[in-house]
Amino acid sequence: MLENFEILNAEAGWFFPLLAFVFGAVVGSFLNVCIYRIPQERSVVHPRSSCACGALIAWYHNIPILSWLFLRGRAACCGGSFSPRYPMVELLTGLFFLANWILFSPLLAVVGMLFAALLILATFIDLDHMIIPDRCSIGGMVLGVVISFLLPELHGHEAISLAAHLESGLNAIVGAIVGAGLVYWIAVLGEVVFRKPAMGEGDVKFLGCIGAFCGWQGAVFGMFGGALIGSVVLLPILLLGRIFGWEQTVLGEDGSPVEEKVAFGSQVPFGPMLAGAGLLYFLILSPQVDAYLADFVTLLRTF
Ligand SMILES: [Zn+2]
Repeated sequence: MLENFEILNAEAGWFFPLLAFVFGAVVGSFLNVCIYRIPQERSVVHPRSSCACGALIAWYHNIPILSWLFLRGRAACCGGSFSPRYPMVELLTGLFFLANWILFSPLLAVVGMLFAALLILATFIDLDHMIIPDRCSIGGMVLGVVISFLLPELHGHEAISLAAHLESGLNAIVGAIVGAGLVYWIAVLGEVVFRKPAMGEGDVKFLGCIGAFCGWQGAVFGMFGGALIGSVVLLPILLLGRIFGWEQTVLGEDGSPVEEKVAFGSQVPFGPMLAGAGLLYFLILSPQVDAYLADFVTLLRTF
């Protein structure tokens, strides 16, 4: 089977990358369902997807990305409009799956795809509801630790020995603790300085999940890289929001969602930024970040 794989890969180099992208788009389609249903605590497999008018969506009208384009964002049954966010999530998932396939060995790529899917799920639920469900964060953390024990390659251990498996698992546990701890202490500090919650309990568990997949270096980068991405992305949004008087959904005093004007000091979901930094680390920046942090640790030791 491995031989067939190598032959096909050599003869038709486009085949597996295309497959990875299509698989990603299909998973993205499923993520759309999860993003919508998980916060409502509904099953993600049953019943089948239906339109707002109640009609079931036929499979040929439910093909990732393409159906939305062919139907021009309209429902086939009643002509109601579908948000461009659906095909966007499918495209995004497809592209991240493709990137994983191109960058990593097949086994590591599959783990990377799972990680990307988790982060996309948490990102959009956080954008919609300002929460990250435990199923994503704690579930992801446990998954990250288990996979690390099974696949030492995830934390860069090449030798496949019992020691490598144990060390890799330990890397994941340390990563989870560092990640959760970092957000926890920054949240405490933030509350002291800004006198209001800067980050939630969901973010604590979520960076723990990122740390389990990426190790402590990835957790540190997730926190500080996330804050940096946040400022770069948020500043223009806040400025435009002030100019145009945009409103956003935030959690009120009693925890239920309310509309509020976008303003400086607004509540913003931090999950998407943590997720963005986590993916950036996992896919591209880990060698540079690890080298930088190693220098930093050496520097600390000289004192
Ligand atoms: Zn309809």
